[in-house]
Amino acid sequence: MLIRGRDPFSHGVYEIDYENGQIQQCTLQKRIRGEVDAYLSVPFFDIQINGAQGISFNSHQLDEAQIHQVVEITTAHGIGLFLPTLITASFEDLAHGFRTLARACRHSSTLAARIAGYHLEGPYISPEEGPRGAHPLAHTRSPNWEEFQRWQDCADGKIRMITLAPELPNALPFIERATQSGVVVAIGHTAANAEQIQAAIQAGAKTSTHLGNGSHAVLPRHPNYIWEQLAADELYASIIPDGFHLPPSVIKTIIRTKGASRTILTCDASSLAGLPSGRYSQWGGEFEILPNGKIVVSGTPYLAGSSFFTDQCVNYLVTTLGYSLAEILPMVTRNPYELFGWPVPQIETGYRGPLLLLKPSNDGLMIDWVN
Ligand SMILES: [Zn+2]
Repeated sequence: MLIRGRDPFSHGVYEIDYENGQIQQCTLQKRIRGEVDAYLSVPFFDIQINGAQGISFNSHQLDEAQIHQVVEITTAHGIGLFLPTLITASFEDLAHGFRTLARACRHSSTLAARIAGYHLEGPYISPEEGPRGAHPLAHTRSPNWEEFQRWQDCADGKIRMITLAPELPNALPFIERATQSGVVVAIGHTAANAEQIQAAIQAGAKTSTHLGNGSHAVLPRHPNYIWEQLAADELYASIIPDGFHLPPSVIKTIIRTKGASRTILTCDASSLAGLPSGRYSQWGGEFEILPNGKIVVSGTPYLAGSSFFTDQCVNYLVTTLGYSLAEILPMVTRNPYELFGWPVPQIETGYRGPLLLLKPSNDGLMIDWVN
């Protein structure tokens, strides 16, 4: 079939012969105006998704059918690849989650193609109110390599990323070992001081997880861990641009300081994403989805993940904050691959995989899959 879509970078038009899930022939026409109004992109890669529509990867009742359901939901939002994310919990609950995910991926090549590995966010995070965010206090603890290895065994070795607080006892040797084993270490849910952040970078930490969130409500103006991570050129930063997690000024500042090549967008979709407003119990806590879609820990100002998906974050940055798709798309289609050192999918002859046709609008990002 013939696909035509605009290149967001050059504004030329791709003419693509697409058959059998592959680009057979691809040409980029420079001077076509009008008529072609959808932009062509590879699907989004989101490094942090906790579940959707009441399904939590953290649940001790997670089953394979639910994993298929979440993958289906993410498809509607342009997400071609993601890291199911498990947060702070008991050893057994996390072991159950990783075993179930690994089994589901062994049973289904379709799932395995959509799930790039797993992100363990916690449990080695700060117990302090604020940095801990919505994670359950009772299960926060210090890094323990043997425990992590047992989860890795449950996960068929596919925990690709861990978010931790580098100020905790044993954190630095843990970061070194995780990095040596090929796991990307992210700094997050932390109350670290400047020296501790620098030490984490020296030990191998590569990114900040949702910079500007999972932090104290009030911080010393400087120094503080946000400035320190902002200024660290060695670190990528993920941000949650859903319209609630960060004000526009902070989003602009992070994108400017990290630059187009070191900013990664994540929706951090909560397991409550996609549900109507109301009160819900999850992970042993009480949460509330407000009518505007904001998810908070009941009775606190603390956010508990997003109720939106990656496409809505992209659309918010383009239609509300005025970024171009060319500025934003690499943050969901290139930078996450580079964070892991994986080949970056390129629209060119021989590309194998689905494509997206995108149209930003005030009603949301219109997405058509080509596959
Ligand atoms: Zn978090």
